Amino acid sequence: ALETDAVSALIRDVVDFPQTGVVFKDITPLLADERAFGACVEALADSFDGAAVDKVVGIEARGFIVAAPVALRMGAGFVPVRKAGKLPWRVERETYALEYGTDVLEIHADAIAPGERVLVIDDVLATGGTASAVTRLAGRLGSEVVGFGCIIELGFLGGRSRLDGVPAVSLVSYP
Ligand code: IMP
Repeated sequence: ALETDAVSALIRDVVDFPQTGVVFKDITPLLADERAFGACVEALADSFDGAAVDKVVGIEARGFIVAAPVALRMGAGFVPVRKAGKLPWRVERETYALEYGTDVLEIHADAIAPGERVLVIDDVLATGGTASAVTRLAGRLGSEVVGFGCIIELGFLGGRSRLDGVPAVSLVSYP
């Protein structure tokens, strides 16, 4: 089993980043510890072991760092979701609400074949706006989103409830 205390000890709280009033969860100390990072990758992959995942979708930018090793460990392909204008090929686009304003995420239109089973991975689940936008993107390509996994869940922001019943796994949760 994952040593949750050892993992959470490697997550740094940064006060007032990126703006006043926010306490940012910084996973860089965790990423720098190969045992803890490896244990997180393994725990996420094991959580969806029986889900017959074809593709793991990672969300720019920290999501890439976690999603790619999870994909390899599961024997699945990796698919990037990026901010607007970064992907070179034809894209599907989803606009989603932020606290102030909106943002746009894109996926290559041919990145996932219809009917493929998809696991979405990010570093942090906060309000769930990002994860639900990615779930809609994957759904638009005709894939089935079988799960969402992340290292950190900020439970007090209620993001899990925005995932439309997609099973969500987080390794460290702040209720
Ligand atoms: P949400 O859309 O509000 O759920 O925010 C989740 C997205 O914002 C993820 O892609 C995270 O990478 C990022 N994010 C939100 N809060 C934090 C944090 O405290 N640390 C690191 N990333 C965060």
